[in-house]
This record gives sequence, C-alpha cells and structure tokens, in this order.
Amino acid sequence: MSALPAVKEATAADHQHRCRGCNVRLSRYNSDAHCSACARRAWRSVSREPRVPLQIWSSAEVRTALVERNFGALCLLVRRLGSLKQEDLAELTGLSQAFLSMLESGTRRLTNIEKIVMLLNGLDVPLELTGPILRSADTSMARIPQCVEPEHPSV
Ligand SMILES: [Zn+2]
Repeated sequence: MSALPAVKEATAADHQHRCRGCNVRLSRYNSDAHCSACARRAWRSVSREPRVPLQIWSSAEVRTALVERNFGALCLLVRRLGSLKQEDLAELTGLSQAFLSMLESGTRRLTNIEKIVMLLNGLDVPLELTGPILRSADTSMARIPQCVEPEHPSV
C-alpha cells in the first residue's frame, strides 16, 4: 500500500499534457491547461488590456491638464498614474505612437477636434470632465446614466 502508484499516471499525463492553445508540450510540472504564452494572451483578451484605471481621474494634476487642454501633459500623467506605455495609449486611442510621443514632448499640439475626441474616448475620460461635445455620440449616450448615479441618496 505504501508503494507510489504514480509512475504510470505520470507517463500518461506527460504524453497528453499539451497546451490547449498552441499544442506545445507542457512540462509535467505545469498543471495549467495552457503554456505561459497562451495563458498570457488569453488573460489579455479577457481583461481587454490595456486599461486606464478609473481612480486617475480624481487626480488634481490630471484634471488641471484637462482643463488647460494640455493633452501632452494629460497623456504623460495617464501613463505614469496608470503604468501604461505609449504603445498602450496608441492601442487605446487609435492615435499613432509617433504622434503621442511628439505630443508628450511638446513638439506637437493636439488641435484637431477629431483627434481630441479620439484621445478622450480612447482614454475613457469620465463624461463629466469632458462634456458631451468632445466625445463620440455612442460613448456620450452610453455614459450619461453612469454619470448621475452617485448623486442618488440611499433609500
Ligand atoms: Zn500555448
């Protein structure tokens, strides 16, 4: 009874243990269904990374940058506070990384209203900070109920 019956099982598991995503053979010590690369990819698609953390919008610096329409400073702050890369911002906003880089360094200014809308929408700036004019119609309509919600007194 004290003998370990594990040898045969381990061999079978070793034979079958392949990543469900890419079918790469997994270490027998990897108890997951996916290799680390596939696990990371799956996690990214589920969590829709990158994401701007909501709490950064309560930062006074961020609000000042918005009020001053200093979009370069805004991008820098969002990236610093949200631990995001320029590529992340590019992915979120649809603006090119080269453009964002110039914006942050101050060599370019953001004056094109379409691009401003892209930026604000992409960063998902709370509607009460931008007003509806600077947002795409879809986003503005979808977000209006959320913006009044905290004002309700508890019943
Ligand atoms: Zn894999």
